[in-house]
Amino acid sequence: MGATKGVAVLGSTGSIGRSTLAVLARQREHFRVVALTGGRNADALAAQVAEWRPAFAGLAADTNGGGHPSGPDVLVQAATHPDVDVVVNAVVGAAGLDATLAALRAGKRVALANKETLVMAGELVAQAACAGGGELIPIDSEHSAVLQCVSGRDAGLGRLILTCSGGPFREWPAERVRQATVEEALRHPTWRMGNKITVDSATLANKALELIEAHHLFGLSYDALEVVVHPQSIVHAFVEFCDGSVIAQVGFPSMELPILYALTHPARLPDAGVRRFDPVAAGPLTFEPVRAEVFRALAAGVAAGRAGGISPAVFNAANEVAVAAFLEGQVPFGRISEIIERTLDDHAPAPATGLPAVRDADRWARARARDYVRRS
Ligand code: NAD
Ligand code: MG
Repeated sequence: MGATKGVAVLGSTGSIGRSTLAVLARQREHFRVVALTGGRNADALAAQVAEWRPAFAGLAADTNGGGHPSGPDVLVQAATHPDVDVVVNAVVGAAGLDATLAALRAGKRVALANKETLVMAGELVAQAACAGGGELIPIDSEHSAVLQCVSGRDAGLGRLILTCSGGPFREWPAERVRQATVEEALRHPTWRMGNKITVDSATLANKALELIEAHHLFGLSYDALEVVVHPQSIVHAFVEFCDGSVIAQVGFPSMELPILYALTHPARLPDAGVRRFDPVAAGPLTFEPVRAEVFRALAAGVAAGRAGGISPAVFNAANEVAVAAFLEGQVPFGRISEIIERTLDDHAPAPATGLPAVRDADRWARARARDYVRRS
């Protein structure tokens, strides 16, 4: 690779953001940090700014940003900074949407961890990339796995099987899952992540978000997208070609490899920080079906994906509200999927004609889901 590429890290203080900076610290000849944004943690951002000295840094919360610019606009400012080539979008939730759209319209590569925004507005994201010449590269480990399997093999993609750890409640009786506490839900067996995605992994809403994400990234119908539970999180995805051949990508669970690949795709760079794969240490690999009747958010999300239009935005918004309410102790774990199902039942499916339609659907679904939270 030639001169260093400028990187913006949106959500740099979070789990993916910090992993991204760990990767970049080992790749200083290839990348430089141009912009950083945090949510509300001014101290954490200040420490990163002191280390990286970016041209731009801001806090997205409307607080006094400790001397930095603050407010939701900092995301778009960082994403469209003229010295930025690659935007790592590691913001959690719908708040990341404008920055993804703006970066793609400005012709940047977006290395996307922020799956919620592709789910909300997949068609608009594709249009923005087309209009501005930007490209979208997934960071999510399953989608990185698929991309790594299909890159350089442009013919005959047939079916994807995304793996799923099953979360902490994989083997629990349904009744116990419904009553699970916040502490139990945050004890993920194989990945250390932010709280929202950790709860999504426990409900399996995360896998629904990922199937919708895969539909948009790889252009496959929902009939060609499947999920299998794989508790060891070693195989990240299986890719089946039209002749029946299957290629999988494997590795110990770490987001640093998919983050680096999203920065370098289709090239690769050596990285001494990645734990070398060892099949014996990986131990026996097992696979089992999803208990769809227990983890109902998965089917609800897939149905929303199949319906298309504004329905995935409704699913995402209801999930964000329900998860936040669970984390605040307002609703039991079992209520999360019910709030999602009821909000989806109540909505009127419609085409996602543009950003206003998606935003209206998001607002409506948040209000409706909050009604269900209050009635819990
Ligand atoms: P996190 O909660 O650890 O970090 C989120 C970051 O976004 C923080 O920097 C936070 O300050 C910032 N933020 C929060 N709310 C914001 C707002 N309203 N506006 C602007 N910034 C805001 O989350 P995470 O685990 O790093 O996940 C980030 C995204 O990556 C999520 O979409 C998640 O689904 C996805 N993802 C995460 C992992 C993982 O291993 N952590 C894996 C795959 C995908
Ligand atoms: Mg994933």
